[in-house]
Amino acid sequence: MGYNFFNIKEVSRVFNGKLQEFRASLGDAICKGKNITFADNDITYVLKLQYERLKKKGLEMEYDIYSRSYEDKNKGFISGSNWQDAHYVSTVCFSPFGVKRKVKKDGAVRFSDNRKSVLYETITDVVSGAHPDNDPICCPNCGAVSTIAALQDGCSYCGTKFQMDDLFPKVTSYYFLDDAGLTKREFKTDYLRFYAGTLAGLYILGCILNGAVFLPQNLIKSIPNLIAVLLGLTLGSVVLAYILYGYFLILRLIVRAIASAGKMGTAGSRRSFETRMKKVSPEFSFEYFTSKALSLIKTAVFSEDERELLFYEGAGLDPKMKNIIDLNYGGALGCIGFRDEGSFVTVVTKAYFDVLYAEENKIHAKSEVFSATFRRRTDIPVNLNFSMTGIACPACGASFDATKNRTCPYCGTKYEITTDDWALVELKYN
Ligand SMILES: [Zn+2]
Ligand SMILES: [Zn+2]
Repeated sequence: MGYNFFNIKEVSRVFNGKLQEFRASLGDAICKGKNITFADNDITYVLKLQYERLKKKGLEMEYDIYSRSYEDKNKGFISGSNWQDAHYVSTVCFSPFGVKRKVKKDGAVRFSDNRKSVLYETITDVVSGAHPDNDPICCPNCGAVSTIAALQDGCSYCGTKFQMDDLFPKVTSYYFLDDAGLTKREFKTDYLRFYAGTLAGLYILGCILNGAVFLPQNLIKSIPNLIAVLLGLTLGSVVLAYILYGYFLILRLIVRAIASAGKMGTAGSRRSFETRMKKVSPEFSFEYFTSKALSLIKTAVFSEDERELLFYEGAGLDPKMKNIIDLNYGGALGCIGFRDEGSFVTVVTKAYFDVLYAEENKIHAKSEVFSATFRRRTDIPVNLNFSMTGIACPACGASFDATKNRTCPYCGTKYEITTDDWALVELKYN
């Protein structure tokens, strides 16, 4: 995803604290079904589904997200682009981490890996001066649907009182991307190797060209000669090592570019999506759509039966998808086409994922491309706080959890997700 790199800055202490706490509780949420801190309800819901998938497969997983900032362990998150609607502002923040995964069955390790990653978290806050008091929100304690104002007086189901600081800002999306760049430590060891190699090469070359002149016993006879030779050798080898290292870096980048050539084809998607969608609603941003798309795909994949999901309108998923135990965004979401039908827009996408499968007796990682199609009404503005676990009934205004009931429990109106938000209408292997 191309971020506006001119807009990069360190995030505030409050943001950083919440982003770090979310990161620290993510492993136990996936592997042990524990609570995830400062996450919105849709993330909580997906993580619960992922944990249940692991349990059903009889697998134990370890998920260690560790710091890769060698110089400063407390180095914080950096913010990239942001987007906002009338009440909320969302910011993408990122920081380098390593992810160690280990999967065990019957006590034996069946899979493990350790990847250099960058963790991206989207954090959503209330726009200062906005008063979304009556917006629906889920109680962070019991999950019951409530409103922002009501939770500050005390949840009517569990009684817990919340300060605005507990409710916002909150993490509304996250994913890991493999780190393509070199860390400082990698750079140092790589360069030192090149330098030592070049120095040795020059010395040998010198020996061949000048007979035995450079052999140590000859050099020691003349100290000034020795100093001159050492200086020349040092300077020459530094320059040569830099040049060789430059070529090596270019080669490495070319190899990586070829490996992700398919993803490169998606580079124009941001522009085509925003040109098309901003005509409908100026709040539409590609980041918002991407985080929505990832959340819907993950929920459908990890659900026991996707046909029971409110936002899923397609046929049954390929049974192979029910063997997926971990699903990471592969860094590219390409928009293949747009289709208008009345007040609906349909977007066909190609989504890249790094998938971890648990099949019969084999646990293996694989890069996959999914074809995912989304549909949304075009005459309803974006609501960044929209959650399928806490929606307001379009008929009577009451709030309820749409993942549990498709009809409003208060007035009986059947709820259609495409009234308010994106629905996933097809998901298959590309
Ligand atoms: Zn509650
Ligand atoms: Zn109703």
